[in-house]
Amino acid sequence: MTEKKYIAYTLRNYKQIKQLSVLSEADFNAIKVVGNVLPFKTNNYVIDELINWDDYKNDPIFNLTFPQKKMLKQEHYDLIEKALKDNIPESELFALCNDVRVELNPHPAGQKCLNVPMFNNKLMQGVQHKYRETVLFFPSAGQTCHAYCTFCFRWPQFIGEKNMKFASRESLEVAKYLQEHHEVTDLLFTGGDPMTMTYKVFKKYIDPILEVLDKTNIQTIRIGTKSLSFWPYRYTHAQDSKEMLSLFKKIVDKGINLAFMAHFNHPVELGTDAVKEAIRALRSTGAQIRTQSPIFKHINDDPEIWAEMWRKQVNLNCIPYYMFMARDTGAKDYFELPIDRAYEIFKAAYSKVSGICRTVRGPSMSCTPGKVLISGIAEIKGEKVFVLRFIQGRNPDWVAIPFFAKYDKDASWISDLEPAFGDKFFFEDEMEVIYQQKYTDCEDNKFE
Ligand SMILES: *Cc1c(COP(=O)(O)O)cnc(C)c1O
Ligand code: SF4
Repeated sequence: MTEKKYIAYTLRNYKQIKQLSVLSEADFNAIKVVGNVLPFKTNNYVIDELINWDDYKNDPIFNLTFPQKKMLKQEHYDLIEKALKDNIPESELFALCNDVRVELNPHPAGQKCLNVPMFNNKLMQGVQHKYRETVLFFPSAGQTCHAYCTFCFRWPQFIGEKNMKFASRESLEVAKYLQEHHEVTDLLFTGGDPMTMTYKVFKKYIDPILEVLDKTNIQTIRIGTKSLSFWPYRYTHAQDSKEMLSLFKKIVDKGINLAFMAHFNHPVELGTDAVKEAIRALRSTGAQIRTQSPIFKHINDDPEIWAEMWRKQVNLNCIPYYMFMARDTGAKDYFELPIDRAYEIFKAAYSKVSGICRTVRGPSMSCTPGKVLISGIAEIKGEKVFVLRFIQGRNPDWVAIPFFAKYDKDASWISDLEPAFGDKFFFEDEMEVIYQQKYTDCEDNKFE
């Protein structure tokens, strides 16, 4: 095996991408202007093996990784464009870009305080515990990705790679928390992308947890990652691929369900030899791969794309898991689809595939009260409604109860919906109490 060299492209060096010679001056300018506000990073695999440069304007992966003019509001775009033309000092530019970012709702759905648990009278940095069974862990060394998605809601945390010296300390803290919280069965490593970590760093994080496994109730360790799409060579052609794979095998051999929550947005990402080999390598350790993706304009707003993606995933031994709605953050206007349209695409795609692919659930909105599934559009007593239900709830008792919202063809998020047959959704009063109990000075939006 020869190591495959990873080359990152950012605003600093993107002009070296030889395929970019097909871009117009206006495209270049847009990358620069928008790339100062939204995260921009791509790499040699994405460029050489995923993007079809002959038709880059309509290419889903080009749209996924390259900033486009329409991703910013015109006024914001003009502001940054002018600042760049005027060559204002770096620090002023940074502050200006931050002002624009703040207006793009960088922390949607109660991420900032409602989900952060208290432990020993302190807020636990780098941890979220929203649903009873599952703890999210954001190791600080994993808060970057092999490339950045232009729609990403995690973008505020891509502030450069952090020092790894906190690794074992962070992890010991999580290990202690899990020992005192036996309701937790799942630990999810997330980011960014934890699989940007080297074997050595990842081991520093996982070891303290494996050491106390018997004193916890952990049954599943999940790893949320887009590395299979953005850098599959991580598992086959990195210096430490072998060690990483044997660590996974070791976890599986302990009787743990090791599940990769793989982020795929388009069937093109499942078509290269590199990704097929990587999936085979991961599966050979006994790890599972479950797949998830948001649904977006310009990337995957077509039932055929989803049906093909699910079929390919199943053929490659992966399990379709979630279709998400776009969150209200970043370039939402560019990407967002109305609930009605997302549901129609889901329904059309779901009806095209066999039951083996129908492990997928969606479209789902991850909002402050929970994950709300759009189960259908129905007419009840002459009123057209969305049929909704929680597939995950801040209160587990809310899960699986059908509830109804007035049909609205333009609504794109729960905050746009009004209850049908009543003036409140069934969970609203309780949500209010949870909200009051948690933090009085929380800036999070209740029903976002
Ligand atoms: C989706 C999600 C989970 C995992 O939920 P599952 O239904 O177990 O897949 C956990 N925490 C948060 C905050 C989530 O959004
Ligand atoms: S890989 Fe995930 S965390 Fe990274 S930019 Fe894309 S959506 Fe965001």
